[in-house]
Amino acid sequence: MPPVSGDLATSIQQAWSGLLDLVSKVVSPDWGALVALIPLAVAPLVGLLLLALLGRWVIFGLLRPRAKVRRVEGARAMERDADGRPAPPVGAPFSLRTGLVYPFGTARTDDGEDLAVICPMCRVERPAQIQTCGNCGLVLTVRRGIEIARPAGPPPGGAAIA
Ligand SMILES: [Zn+2]
Repeated sequence: MPPVSGDLATSIQQAWSGLLDLVSKVVSPDWGALVALIPLAVAPLVGLLLLALLGRWVIFGLLRPRAKVRRVEGARAMERDADGRPAPPVGAPFSLRTGLVYPFGTARTDDGEDLAVICPMCRVERPAQIQTCGNCGLVLTVRRGIEIARPAGPPPGGAAIA
């Protein structure tokens, strides 16, 4: 009785070598093509990366306080003092002409007039599109409607700790 296992092993080996042969025939010519395709494969990745960076800039641009505001929403009437004169708010963009107080981040009225803002620290008026107070240096950063006021320079005690 011939060893079946030996025949089986031989046939598996033959099949395997045949398979390897086939694979090498199929795969080998493709390597050159694949190598040639690498720049083509990398190009979309680079494109995606650039797109992602560009997208970040676009999003950043959208979140930044816009210098040009086509439509002003959420504007409210300015408060008036005891004599009925408009009392400009502190730290919020306003226009004496329209008598309105505009949301944070607004620099112009819908018809293009530059808004003014009063510095919360020194009460000096300046154009709303300028973030840094020219008088005291207070930076009024506006992001997503949240008012963040911070003084220029290091925090007190920061230099001593470092
Ligand atoms: Zn100031």
